[in-house]
Amino acid sequence: MPPPAVKTIRDLIFYRYAKIIAKRANRRDNYGFIMERFKSLKEGRINWSNLTREHRYAILRGQSCVYCNSPSEIQMDHIIPISKGGPETADNMIAVCKECNLSKGDRDLYYWWIRIKQRDDDDIPRIAEGKYLKLIYNIHKTRGTLESTDLDGDGKLTVFDLGIIADRKPTAGQREAAINEETKYNARLAAHNSVHKRGNPASSRKKYLAQRRRTRPRRTSARPRSPDHGNNLIDKIKRSLGIS
Ligand SMILES: [Zn+2]
Repeated sequence: MPPPAVKTIRDLIFYRYAKIIAKRANRRDNYGFIMERFKSLKEGRINWSNLTREHRYAILRGQSCVYCNSPSEIQMDHIIPISKGGPETADNMIAVCKECNLSKGDRDLYYWWIRIKQRDDDDIPRIAEGKYLKLIYNIHKTRGTLESTDLDGDGKLTVFDLGIIADRKPTAGQREAAINEETKYNARLAAHNSVHKRGNPASSRKKYLAQRRRTRPRRTSARPRSPDHGNNLIDKIKRSLGIS
């Protein structure tokens, strides 16, 4: 059970992440340190928005199972299964052995680790938990459940309330909120792509060029031509060698 200051889903996610920070700093059992980091995360003084840190740790530890350290038959595991709304991105992938991958299946990380493997929640590998928390935060955000205090209906807030969201279909209101978010994102992306050539669909690229032709002043005088203009490379080489 989390301490009394941890009241909502948002609190619990930040509290778990504060514990990961404490582990990294070798202050795993330092309650004061954990609660100070928890507050900093909650108040936005520590930014956790990107996953660079987790990716860096994953590269440094090399190719062995994130869960059990076995180097054999390494596969890619989706921390939040695709079937439960997990994204098909590197943020949602970790290297695991075949055995752990089969054992976890499409179960929630906390459920699998604590209920199935019967391990302590504080021993969850931090790469897996760090990535998981950021992903599950985004799912709760789009469903509007970050301020919830109990989602599985057992009367208390536990880590099992976090993953339950991925098992549930979004309600109409939640879906609408998610669609709005998606629309805004796509509009931002389109605006970005109309300026930058990379990854730009042909049609909007054409529109962009037409717009540019309309708004740019026409060049009034022809560009001065170089003496070589119209001659091919062989002619140039011949001239440079004095052969004509
Ligand atoms: Zn393993």
